[in-house]
Amino acid sequence: MIQLKNAAQIKAMREAGRITGEALLVAREHVREGVSTYELDQVIRHYIEKSGAKPSFLGLYGFPGSACISVNDEVIHGIPSKKQILREGDIVKVDLGACYKGYHGDSARTIPVGKVSDEAAKLIEVTRDSFFAGVGQLKAGNRLGDVGSAIDTLVRENGFSTVRKYIGHGIGKEVHEAPDVPNYGTPGRGVRICSGMVLAIEPMVNAGTFEVRELADGWTVVTADRKLSAHYENTVALTDEGVLNLTLIDPAF
Ligand code: MG
Ligand code: MG
Repeated sequence: MIQLKNAAQIKAMREAGRITGEALLVAREHVREGVSTYELDQVIRHYIEKSGAKPSFLGLYGFPGSACISVNDEVIHGIPSKKQILREGDIVKVDLGACYKGYHGDSARTIPVGKVSDEAAKLIEVTRDSFFAGVGQLKAGNRLGDVGSAIDTLVRENGFSTVRKYIGHGIGKEVHEAPDVPNYGTPGRGVRICSGMVLAIEPMVNAGTFEVRELADGWTVVTADRKLSAHYENTVALTDEGVLNLTLIDPAF
């Protein structure tokens, strides 16, 4: 069942969203060559806890980190590791959430490490743009197929592919709530959008095939052709006044 949120609940979710978005800014400050994904995770955890919140992903379904940190061909659910050291030219996806007063935020960014290839830079930009194309369709009376179609159309126009196996979701007192929010779809189809919905919209975009597979660690999802993947996510609320982006702190990030 879709749990619509009232004004007071959305106000509470703004706080969780703000801490989530700020933690990503802190992560960005620490992304550089030579840093391990474990160190990055520690910085994120410290910031979230210092803010009076809890890392939403720590222990979620048994996940061992505070953030999912996925590098290059890793799509999502990368486990922070002391052995994984960032190198110039890498792209690192940081996906994290903060739980504050019982409500969750969920947001992800793809961060370049130093100078990256033209293709990597374009992939990051298109993934981000596709999120905003999707959010542009988030209007009462529209369908979630309108959102997904807008995302996937922009991705395809740029020669990339949209991951289908993993999708966005409703969010609130649980990280993952109804409805499913696919990053593809048919305009005019799917769940009808209405005021009070709070959704994590999160395109995962691959440079090559949309196919993915899970590694033997039981968590890390990689592209089937081992080409690059990017991820961009915000928690957004649809109110009678329009869309509130709860996790976007720096409008350029
Ligand atoms: Mg996320
Ligand atoms: Mg999510």
